[in-house]
Parts: sequence; structure tokens; C-alpha cells
Amino acid sequence: MTATSLPAFADLLPPLWDSHGRVIHDLRVSITDRCNYKCVYCRTGEAGAQYPELRIDEYLRLIGIFVRLGITKVRLTGGEPLLRRGVVELVQELARLHTASGDSLDLALTTNGHLLESLAVPLKKAGLSRVTVSMDAVDAVTFERITRVEGSFGAVLASIRAARAAGLTPVKINCVLLRGFNDDQIEGFARFAREEDVVVRFIEFMPLEEGRLWTPEIVVTLKEIVERIGRVMPLVEMPPREASETARRYTFEDGVGEIGIIAPVSQAFCGACSRVRLTSDGKIRTCLFSQVEHDLYGRMRAGASDEELDAYVVRTVQEKEARHHIGEPGFLKPSRSMVHIGG
Ligand code: SAM
Repeated sequence: MTATSLPAFADLLPPLWDSHGRVIHDLRVSITDRCNYKCVYCRTGEAGAQYPELRIDEYLRLIGIFVRLGITKVRLTGGEPLLRRGVVELVQELARLHTASGDSLDLALTTNGHLLESLAVPLKKAGLSRVTVSMDAVDAVTFERITRVEGSFGAVLASIRAARAAGLTPVKINCVLLRGFNDDQIEGFARFAREEDVVVRFIEFMPLEEGRLWTPEIVVTLKEIVERIGRVMPLVEMPPREASETARRYTFEDGVGEIGIIAPVSQAFCGACSRVRLTSDGKIRTCLFSQVEHDLYGRMRAGASDEELDAYVVRTVQEKEARHHIGEPGFLKPSRSMVHIGG
């Protein structure tokens, strides 16, 4: 083979990679910024939805571009995605897509679980692979103090069980801990993981709330969580399954139950980030903490061809930020909070 017939290095790479050498294969799509909970660490309780929603077929076209370009995992989120009419049909259509290498998409959904009990079977049948349910306390009183919705604990518990029975497994539970507020739930969650056969993942609180609550002191760190659980039930660290895995994973000495800890504050994993986000109004965000958004939907509305949209996505992803700057002097909160970005 002569030098001129050697394939260019760039041709060997998947199209979606950034200027820091990270391959991007994970897309999170918010399909509404409405939410039926007002979790105290996320929302002020005064603001409602702020951004428009696209039609289901518009989300499909935009997601299709990313999939063509190498995305292998799509997670639907919000706001609360189960509030969105047409979510089951969207999953059904997404399940028909194939990755660039011909495999089925890995299709997941993050939900507060309030409406999941009756939707678990339809979502599974439509082709959803698994769900993550957010749950910030294992006792009903603390839980409902956080969500500010009466009866929410019973609804979410029933949904978790329905999701497991429907085969949306492994069911993962996301728990955001705030010091002095729900950190007394840590040991209870360790038991819950074992008893309910779910993966409990603690997430360090990030400065993405609607109000101004975040301080470094309120964050309960990975180190502290491991120490506290270890005092009552020794933990054994599990090896990562892939380099871009966000959670550090642990099991117990008898191998029953799994705990994950996602530590974007105390042990940032930006160097291995494989994610981009699409907001409910069709803007690309290349980082949760991006200061700029990229109007993919605007280009689509203006009549851009598939090729033009492909090129725009490729260029945008290449400019992904190297890392976030939580806790550093001069840190700027993004213009959107978590509920309006899509967690
Ligand atoms: N409504 C859905 C739900 O409750 O899972 C999806 C959207 S919600 C914004 C996604 C996840 O973000 C939830 O697990 C929530 O606890 C988490 N979250 C919200 N604000 C956060 C923050 N400031 N730091 C870390 N996680 C946060």
C-alpha cells in the first residue's frame, strides 16, 4: 500500500469525537421541561415550564442525526418525560433505529417514577431497555418533604416494583444527598438496594438548582458515603465496565446488592465524558455547565438538509468543553437549571 492510499487517520474515527480526543456515544434528550414534582433541591416551586417542546417526529429526526453519526445510547429525560404525551410511541420509533454498526440502540429513561407503574409494561413492549428512577429518601415523610407531593412515596415504590417486574432492568435509583437534609438516608438506601434488588446510585449535588442552595459544604462526597455504608455493611469496589462509566460501583461482601456513586464534584470524570444533551426545545448542550447552546432545531426549522445538520452536529460536538469548573473561583452557573436542561 502506498502512502497516498493509506486511509486518513480521521477516517478511522467515528464522526462524533471532540477536540479533547473523547468519543461521544451517549445522547440525553429532554422531551419536556415540565415536572410534576417540586423537589426542594431542584426547583423553587414558583417557576413552571420555560421552554417549548418539539413534536415527537421532530425529536425523532434530530435524534436520528446523532444516531447516524455514532450515538449508541439514548436516554430520554426531562423535566418529567412521562408527562409527555407520545412518549411510548417515541420509544417505539427509536427502537427501530440502528447504531452505525447495525446494533439496536441502548434506550433508557430517567423518571421520577410517579406515573411509571402503569407505563412500565407499555414502555418495555415499545422497546425501552431500562429505567432510572429518582428517589431521594427511603422513608415516606422525608421523601414527600422533598418532592412536595402527597402520596408520592407510595406511587414511586409501586413503580419501582412494576419496572422490575416488567423487565426494565437493572432498575437504577438515583439519589441526590444534601447534608443535614437527607443524608440520614444513606444506610437505609444500602438496605433498600439489597431488599428491592435495585442499583442505588448516590449523586453528588451540583450547582444546577433553580434557587441558590449549593455550597461545597452541602455536598455529601463519595468518600463520606463509602465510609458511612462501610461502617454498617462493608463494601467491595467493583471494576468499571467501560472507561466512560460515571459511577464508581460497589457491592457487599456477600455479593448481594449494588451501590454506585457518581461524584462530579469531588472526583470529576470530565476526562472520560461521552455525553451530549439535546434540550426540549432542540438545543445542543455539550456540557451540563455549558454557557452556550447550539440551535439544532432552529436550523432544521429553517430547512437545513440532513447533510447540513450532520455537519453542524459534528462541528458542535468537536467544541465540547474540556471540563466543568464547579467550586473554582469565577464559576458561572449555566443559564438553565437541571430541570430545564434534562438530567
Ligand atoms: N424528572 C426526572 C427525574 O426525576 O428523574 C428526570 C429529570 S431530573 C432533572 C434528573 C435527575 O437529576 C434526578 O435524578 C435528579 O435528582 C437529578 N438532579 C436534579 N438536580 C440536581 C443537582 N443540582 N445535582 C445533581 N443531580 C440533580
